[in-house]
Order: sequence, then structure tokens, then C-alpha cells
Amino acid sequence: MAVCTGCSLLCEDIEAALKTGAIEKAKNLCRKGQSHFKSLFAERSEIRVEGKEVSLDSAIEKSADILRNAKSLLLYGWSNSSLEAQRAGIELAKKLEAEIDDTSSFCQGLLLERVIKGQLPTCTLDDTRNFADVSLFWGSDPANSHPRHLSRFSYYPRGTKRQKGYEEDRTCILIDVRRSSTARLCPEYFRVLPGGDAEMIEAIKMVLEGKIPRFGDKKRIIELGTLLRKAEYGVIFPGLGLVYSLAQRMDLFESLVEKLNGISNYKVVPMVGHYNMRGFNQLLFDETGHINRVSFRKGVNHGQEYSVVAAAKKCDACLVIGSDPLSALPFGTAHSLAKSKLIAIDPHRSLTTDAAKVVIPSAIYGLEAGGTALRMDGIKIDFEPIVESTWPSDEEILKRIDEAI
Ligand code: SF4
Repeated sequence: MAVCTGCSLLCEDIEAALKTGAIEKAKNLCRKGQSHFKSLFAERSEIRVEGKEVSLDSAIEKSADILRNAKSLLLYGWSNSSLEAQRAGIELAKKLEAEIDDTSSFCQGLLLERVIKGQLPTCTLDDTRNFADVSLFWGSDPANSHPRHLSRFSYYPRGTKRQKGYEEDRTCILIDVRRSSTARLCPEYFRVLPGGDAEMIEAIKMVLEGKIPRFGDKKRIIELGTLLRKAEYGVIFPGLGLVYSLAQRMDLFESLVEKLNGISNYKVVPMVGHYNMRGFNQLLFDETGHINRVSFRKGVNHGQEYSVVAAAKKCDACLVIGSDPLSALPFGTAHSLAKSKLIAIDPHRSLTTDAAKVVIPSAIYGLEAGGTALRMDGIKIDFEPIVESTWPSDEEILKRIDEAI
């Protein structure tokens, strides 16, 4: 069996046979996983220093040289890499007194921090399958982002206490600004206006207190509150829609979960996208007490000023691993990063590798390299390579750079 690192569900039941340039046979791979496996054969990056093809040794030496001489250094990315590589990266950041940040800084960090610190109650996906009678997706679209979520854990499967599955035992609720692909599968769809999540939370809380809601479609919100109130074991899966809408008002969501837990039993599992973002956040938290945005200059420092957005403006060198910030981040941040001495470690060609001074191709974890990662619910998953690769893993590359420094 192979493990798919296509998303943070890290499905462990994949049977795949590969031949040169194609997937010959595959079982249990969703369409997103298929694309991930096919990426073995597409747009691989090449070793480059300032656009010229060089040996791996030269690229390692050049990277070590850039990192050693940087006055303000940022190490960024990490979410598509193994725990072992992330650990090596944190050690490197400590050694170089660098700033280190990951993609959570720009997405699910606000929620994950609360889960990791124990401020929001959480559970595993296996608990969801076995016990949950209500799954609430809020600002998330698992049908596209995590295509096997509903079938493996949250809606369709039979579980210890949920033997009748979705037909009788489970309710699937979606709160979103649009009728997404998931809305076609979830019978209970509730529309929220863009940016209206805070009002929606207030309205639900009023229903839970037995009052008439002041906001939104009162009849529908009373129906939603009644569904939530009836749950024996509810799990909320918040996505980026909710995070971006609430931003710094995440306390509101926390207060709703608290209220729901005064009535029933509710857990929260953030819909982490990248396959090992949770792993990096947990490792950095264990090391520093913070999940992202850390500077190791003269001890451990934490704050907004060490986020990728702020750090990009002042860093003169940046090592990017397991991420493509030049495509994903706002133009200003991408522009600043592109002006720095950029080192990109990535299995695939991207806008970031195209702009980088040094490009080091790496093996794809789960396909060409083994390691471990934390699933979106914090469960550790081991994976082995299923094909041979000539490329080193992220962990090997980081350790070689560390030695060269
Ligand atoms: S749901 Fe995610 S981990 Fe599972 S097969 Fe699809 S892409 Fe891979």
C-alpha cells in the first residue's frame, strides 16, 4: 500500500502500479491524488545556479554560501515536506539565527494555533467516523480540496457508533458563500454572505440561547441552530472561507464552540490543505511555543514582524522549500522575495524555481522518498517510497547544506 501526499488526509490505502511516464493501475486514488501521482512525470525542476546547469555539489555549496553570508535570512515553506526535513529546517534556522515561517502564516494558522494550544477541543478523523452524527463544513469544500473526506470519515462511512452511515445516522451541514460541489452532496446547505460569518455566528448563538436571531434568514438560522443543538457528537471542519472572513475575530468562533459544548459535544478539525502543514506547526510549537512566525536571532522571538509578508520586505536571502510563494502570496511579497537571493528546493518547476538563484530538485515524499507527516487531525502517518529516484529528499538536501555551512 502507498500513502498519497496529495492532501492532508494522507490516504494510506492506495494501490498503484506505475510504468514509465504513466500510472498503469490505481485503486483508491481520488482525482486529486491521480494528479499528484502523475506529477511524477511532469514539469520536474532541474539543478540550476543563476540559470546555469550545475552539479548537485555546486548547488549545495552555493546555497551554503548564500545562507552563511546573509544578513537577514528567511526560511519559508515547509508544509509539503516531511517531519524529518522540517526538523532539520528548524535546526538550520536556529544555527543561522534566521526567521522561519510556513504557509499557515497565510491560511489556517489562526485556527491551528488554537487547536494545538488546546483552546479549541479537537478529535481525530477516526473519532469522526466512529462517533460523529453531525459534520459541519464551514467555508470549506472537501469535495474539491479533500475529495475522500466525506467517504472515509465524515459522511458516508459506517463507524462503531454510526452503523447506518449517511442514510440515517449522520447529518452533513455546509455553511458557505456559494453552492459549492460539496453543497450538492450535503443535504443541509446554509448560505452566508461574503464576510458575513461573524453575524452568522452571532445569529446561531442567539438561537442556541432560545432567542430569535437578529441577522440573516431567521427561519433558516433557527433550522440550523436546531440541527446543531440535536447533535450527540458534532465535528466542525472550518476552511479558509471562515478563517479569512473572521481573521482576527476568531474569538467569536471559539465562543460559538464553547456554547455548543454547553449543550452537546463538539470538536474542531481545521481543513488543513498541504499534507504536512500541521506537522511543521506542531514541531515548531514543541520547540518554541509558537506555531509559525519565529525568529531565532538571540533567542526565540515571535510576532507579526516575522511573518513571511513582513520578513520578505527586509530579508536579503530566502530559502524556500515545499512551497511556491511567488505564485501563492500577494504580489508585493512575491516581488520582495524575488529580489532576494532565493534558494528553491522543490521537486517541480514553479514560478519560485524560475526566479530562484539556486534550484535544487528533490524527491517527492510518498512517491520517491519515505518519511513521516501529521495528518490534518495530528495523527502521525509513515510513508515509504514506491519508485526509485535519483533525487535526494528535502531532509538529505538540508543536512548537506548544513554540513557545508
Ligand atoms: S483525498 Fe487527498 S490524500 Fe486521499 S487520495 Fe485524494 S488527494 Fe490523496
